[in-house]
Amino acid sequence: MKLESFWQANAPVFKGAAQTPLPERADVVIIGGGFSGISAARSLAKQGIDVVVLEKNGIMSEASARNGGHCNSGIAKSFADLVARKGLEKASEMYRAYDSAVNYVSGIVKEEDIACDFRFCGKLKLASKPAHFDGLRAACELMRKTVDPEVELISAADIGREIDSQAFHGGLLQQRGASMHMGKFGVGLAEAAVRHGARIYEHHAVTAMTRLSGQRHRISTAKGDIIADKVLLATGCSSDGPFPWVQRRIVPVGSFIIVTAPLAPDLLHRLLPHDRTYVNSMNIGNYFRTTADHRLVFGGRARFAISNPASDSRSGEILRSAMGKVFPALASAPVDYCWGGMVDMSADRLPHAGEENGVYYTMGYSGHGTQMSVWMGNVMADLISGRADNNPWNDKPWAPVPGYFGKPWFLPLTGLYYKAKDRLF
Ligand SMILES: Cc1cc2nc3c(=O)[nH]c(=O)nc-3n(C[C@H](O)[C@H](O)[C@H](O)COP(=O)(O)OP(=O)(O)OC[C@H]3O[C@@H](n4cnc5c(N)ncnc54)[C@H](O)[C@@H]3O)c2cc1C
Repeated sequence: MKLESFWQANAPVFKGAAQTPLPERADVVIIGGGFSGISAARSLAKQGIDVVVLEKNGIMSEASARNGGHCNSGIAKSFADLVARKGLEKASEMYRAYDSAVNYVSGIVKEEDIACDFRFCGKLKLASKPAHFDGLRAACELMRKTVDPEVELISAADIGREIDSQAFHGGLLQQRGASMHMGKFGVGLAEAAVRHGARIYEHHAVTAMTRLSGQRHRISTAKGDIIADKVLLATGCSSDGPFPWVQRRIVPVGSFIIVTAPLAPDLLHRLLPHDRTYVNSMNIGNYFRTTADHRLVFGGRARFAISNPASDSRSGEILRSAMGKVFPALASAPVDYCWGGMVDMSADRLPHAGEENGVYYTMGYSGHGTQMSVWMGNVMADLISGRADNNPWNDKPWAPVPGYFGKPWFLPLTGLYYKAKDRLF
């Protein structure tokens, strides 16, 4: 078993990284070379703006190529909560933003001709307990009446048509779900950004940032400084770099994934005849999908722990056992890959984006960012260039997480709370 991301291990090599020394200045400097940063760079470059990306490692080295591979709506059963918190109009705008984001990714794949196995497959949320199905039914009724007439409820009696497992009591199907190979998409997106004129500097960690005036900043790396007329922070949940304002608002939470060896195609077809993306309804839940080469990608929170090789491997064992419970036929299936990553969680589990102290930012996708980060890159590009303000996540003021100054001491307690909730409800 390799302790590395399947998406990273099977992505083409990125050939477009800038090899010249850092320029003295740029119209826009983007910090972070994941989906948010690279997508923003592509859009700005397409507008003829001089844009430089600074990435501390290689591109797609964190969440963007260490995720579960789902490209879905981030709001399903939680839509009712969102309506209660934000009102129907705002909640509907947020819901539609996910659909726009998935469509936007699909559009880029076509426009830039990125071979990344993108396909619309639908997202099935599976009720892990009978009571959870009642919640899905209520959510379905509300969504059908308001934002999504296509959403479909699948009863416990019918769920066998969707999945060959005794673990579930019905489900909720959203048609706009998609899946793709995250590594192939990420590298394709970066090559496209470079083709349009963006310069991407890998292994350039930002260590200091000084405000000169208005939105102008001096940005420092060990390899030199650059003056930026405007700055976009797209650093996910990183605690590296001089960004205390966002670092008090985003909590890194580990999530873990295993990928089986290629399985017999007819076995996979029997288990998952419609080949969708799947997520169960537990708080500490699981998510899964297949790959183009017939593997099962099976992920979940597993433990409230950080990701490192020892931790990933322990989590991998928990996931292997969970996978065997969902699919007894896979209890002894060989596992080829196991890895973890840190999710950029915000306190309200919604993305946050805007401008603070002369610096633009977009982050906090809370485990639903593969589509939203790509779309938000474009939204932020339009905001930065003054073209348009289509940002649905600018709900200021954005308060810091209480008692959080960089060490998420409360995560074990949060883990216990959610475990207890999962046992009781
Ligand atoms: C295990 C896991 C599973 C997930 N599964 C899914 C899923 O199935 N579906 C879904 O929609 N979402 C999922 N997500 C979330 C999704 O992957 C992220 O929301 C999305 O990739 C965020 O992209 P980003 O560009 O904002 O952040 P990132 O991809 O984290 O990129 C941030 C970049 O900033 C760089 N950086 C940080 N600090 C500095 C610095 N000081 N100087 C220079 N560069 C810096 C980092 O190296 C990194 O490359 C998952 C996340 C994880 C971790």
